[in-house]
Amino acid sequence: MLEQLKEACGVFAAQDFTNKPVFPYIYWGLRSQNHRGHQSHGFLTYDGTFHSQKGLDLVPKVKKEEIQKWLTELPGSVGLGHVRYSTSGGTDYESLVKSTQPIMEKRGEKQIAIAFNGNVVNTPDIIKEIQEETPNFRFNYDAELISRKLLRQTKDGDLASSVKRCMKEIEGAFSVAGMTEKGELFAFRDPQGIRPLCCGCSKNGTTCAVSSETVGLDINSFDFNFEVNPGELVVAKKDGFERKQLCPGERHALCAFEFAYFARPDSRLGNRYVYEVREEFGRNFAWEYPETTSKVDIIMSMPETGNDAAYGYHELTGIRWERASRRHRYVAERAFILLSDQRYNTIDRKINIVDHKLAGKNVAVVDDSIVRGDTTKVVVTKLRKMGAKKVYLFITFPRIIGPCFYGVDMATYRELIGSQHDAEEIAEIVGADAVNYQSVDGLVKATGLDKQNLCLGCITGKYPTPLAQKLADEMKERFENGYSEKGRIYESSVK
Ligand code: SF4
Repeated sequence: MLEQLKEACGVFAAQDFTNKPVFPYIYWGLRSQNHRGHQSHGFLTYDGTFHSQKGLDLVPKVKKEEIQKWLTELPGSVGLGHVRYSTSGGTDYESLVKSTQPIMEKRGEKQIAIAFNGNVVNTPDIIKEIQEETPNFRFNYDAELISRKLLRQTKDGDLASSVKRCMKEIEGAFSVAGMTEKGELFAFRDPQGIRPLCCGCSKNGTTCAVSSETVGLDINSFDFNFEVNPGELVVAKKDGFERKQLCPGERHALCAFEFAYFARPDSRLGNRYVYEVREEFGRNFAWEYPETTSKVDIIMSMPETGNDAAYGYHELTGIRWERASRRHRYVAERAFILLSDQRYNTIDRKINIVDHKLAGKNVAVVDDSIVRGDTTKVVVTKLRKMGAKKVYLFITFPRIIGPCFYGVDMATYRELIGSQHDAEEIAEIVGADAVNYQSVDGLVKATGLDKQNLCLGCITGKYPTPLAQKLADEMKERFENGYSEKGRIYESSVK
């Protein structure tokens, strides 16, 4: 997708039981997951006291001569890291700096640090509860709701009972990695398991790690051991992870969009490589759209998330997959310096399209999703100018008809072209000859998971948690009755 849809977040944590510094593992774990969050990054290590380094933007490159400085500033054999895109709180400079994770919270003797991926849906309820104890508490970002809740006294007074309370009382998506004041590393996942989280260890078993995606383990040459179960707490121990299933969860609901867009293709989700699922998405196009397929001369993809599906489509149909679009490899900016009359040239800053390959051809363009549709329109116009005879869009993620409450930047119906128009109308709006969406059933089958074990909220209107469903229904009614929407509704009554 060439639109700037923002991802959730990424976490990485590690503990070494031979007292080796873990900062290098965390650093690489985050670098491999920077696609999950661009706005800020943070490190937090522990060697008896906590040490932290935070910054805005991508995880920085560390020059050779700076390595020792980083190791000195972030000592310790246990630590956490985080890359963030904000789905809660303010997005001005000050708010972003303030809300950069990992965060630390203290209560009496107890101290806790966490990094989390997801989004809290029942924000006002949790704030109210916190304000009963701390009246001057003001909400900044949702990580602090989780950390405050973890620090509240429970009857048993242990970590497991605090985590269990979080799982029971917080609605939303939360994959959390954390540390106690004793340097104990733990991780847990909400009872639906909406965002991914996995564990692994070094080959000799002396270092344990937690990562949003398996690529964080791979880059450190760690073995992938298991995905944290929805509703499960894991604690790193000398001989591996101690696992406790605290909440059974009524249903699992891994975000289906992870397969189409967010996760790296070389990550494993639900025991399948994401790229294999995407290839299957492409094969589905051949089965679901035989008539359009019979007219296609060449297949091209919008790099990079369309590449694997384009390959699957090509493999099954034998139609040439022309690698006619390439991303500018070292151009990573998300805001381009443009003169005002170059507004539509942002596509050129991102990808280069080889025009003579398209001239006079019926082109199938494989992309992962359409959210707002404005960028798609620019791309189609460009392809036509380059001489494409017909432009058929093949979209691997089904039509997005509703907002996301679980950490993806799609907060309103208004901003979603698919909430107001069907595929035929969208084709007309963006100027394509056809828009062929992946079917929901085709998507589910390709993931290899049961429909009940996926979140399909934004493409079916059926959300896996009750408050999100209620909010979606209310928002839809208001939208259809012409009321304006106010962005993140789950924060709208926050004081
Ligand atoms: S609503 Fe859509 S984007 Fe959000 S978690 Fe569910 S499937 Fe993913």
